[in-house]
Amino acid sequence: MSGFDFDLLVIGAGSGGVRASRMAAQSGARVAVVEAGPLGGTCVNVGCVPKKLFVYGSHFPEAFEDAKGYGFEVAPPRFSWDTLRDNKTREIERLNGVYGNLLDQAGVTVLHGQARVLGAHEVAVGEARYSAERILVATGSTPSLPTFPGVEHVVTSFEMFYLDALPKRAVVLGGGYIAVEFASILQGLGVDTTLIYRGPLILRGFDADVRGFVMAELRKFGIDLRLETDVQAIEKQADGSLQLTLHDRSGEGEDERARGETATLPADLVMAATGRHPLTAGLGLEAAGVALGEDGRVLVNEQFQSTVPSIFALGDVINRAQLTPVAIREAMAFTEAQFGTAAVPPVDYDLIPTAVFCQPNIGTVGPTEEVARQKHGPLAIYEAVFRPMKHTLTGREERTFMKLIVRRSDDRVVAAHMVGPDAGELIQGIAVAIVAGATKRDFDATVGIHPTAAEEFVTMRTPTREDPL
Ligand code: NDP
Repeated sequence: MSGFDFDLLVIGAGSGGVRASRMAAQSGARVAVVEAGPLGGTCVNVGCVPKKLFVYGSHFPEAFEDAKGYGFEVAPPRFSWDTLRDNKTREIERLNGVYGNLLDQAGVTVLHGQARVLGAHEVAVGEARYSAERILVATGSTPSLPTFPGVEHVVTSFEMFYLDALPKRAVVLGGGYIAVEFASILQGLGVDTTLIYRGPLILRGFDADVRGFVMAELRKFGIDLRLETDVQAIEKQADGSLQLTLHDRSGEGEDERARGETATLPADLVMAATGRHPLTAGLGLEAAGVALGEDGRVLVNEQFQSTVPSIFALGDVINRAQLTPVAIREAMAFTEAQFGTAAVPPVDYDLIPTAVFCQPNIGTVGPTEEVARQKHGPLAIYEAVFRPMKHTLTGREERTFMKLIVRRSDDRVVAAHMVGPDAGELIQGIAVAIVAGATKRDFDATVGIHPTAAEEFVTMRTPTREDPL
């Protein structure tokens, strides 16, 4: 046993911090976790979990409409935002308690307060000081705001979970995960929603076909997508509403006439979803000798060790992939190496399945077609576009898109992308096959489950296009 107060002191009780604390404590280590807010971090409190509850809520209006095609006459339903918001909050508070119990049962000491690293083995929490053989920084990330006059009128995902009332007209800034998810939630709940993105195609990093397809679906869903548009300023009006000044950048570089054109857009709420940066400010890390990247991330090696050998970091604060399951896997790899907990395979950052809960959902595993071609050489691409069977009776125009990317040299399926209902649920199983190295022949040999959307993944026989070998 070390002469320190704790063998491990974790800063941040989010997804990564809680998992690392529990695993280390269960292996017999003396562990403390410091948390300034409620237990569970971003995912539980202001991220994945409450977001998904709002996503479920936002699908009901569509379900009521769709019910007509199936013979149900539903009186126009009334929606109470207060009920959804408060029921969500109650569930989050229940989860806060569950996290507290899990930490208690594992024997982890929970220290409430703001942590500050004083040195390689020392941390202050308020007035108290603690020594630890190892310190783990798992403080996560926080929203980044753009800079323009009037940005103080903008809210972030934090506030969206506790709005007093839903606005009539909302504007969402950004074209990433959070922007498309919240635009879908707002539009689904009946808010007139505009999404403003600076580039020509939202969802940078996703497969180009997925990006184009999702944009068309979001527009069908009623979201006003304004592309190649910057916000220049936001002004508060006398009646409390907001006025955005927009700048069209679509003609920049090519068309002199479009350059510099501005327009105005009224709104009741503007939400920025313009990325998240690692939360290291005020932690005292640099003074303690920990090297940080330009964006504030803790720089770590393969063992999640910073430039100070006793200080480690993982999760959003190292900014490799800002995803809860990745933070959890990193925490397990960390505790395996440092405390001898159960062995886990290393995190394969190139093959992370993920979903975006926009309407309809995106599910994806493996690289985009463009990246796959660079990495794997000649490809065969299989695609399917169809109307989900449910909508044959509802009349809804929504379409589903599926795509398999196959490496021609050895028939390996290297990626699967989908846009459609429950894409996240469906892609998880496909991801197991791809991680295990399944070939297109294995997909073909798998009997489909009929009638499902998923069966398309095992019945796509003819490539849409093929690179020459
Ligand atoms: P993303 O990095 O995904 O997207 C940020 C968006 O904002 C991009 O479209 C970016 O444009 C744009 N942007 C950035 N800076 C500016 C600026 N100054 N002015 C205008 N636009 C700007 O971040 P999010 O905030 O959407 O999400 C953060 C992370 O959270 C994600 O990376 C994801 O890992 C995680 N997350 C995961 C979810 C899930 O798994 N379902 C759900 C929600 C979040 P450009 O592309 O041009 O840079």
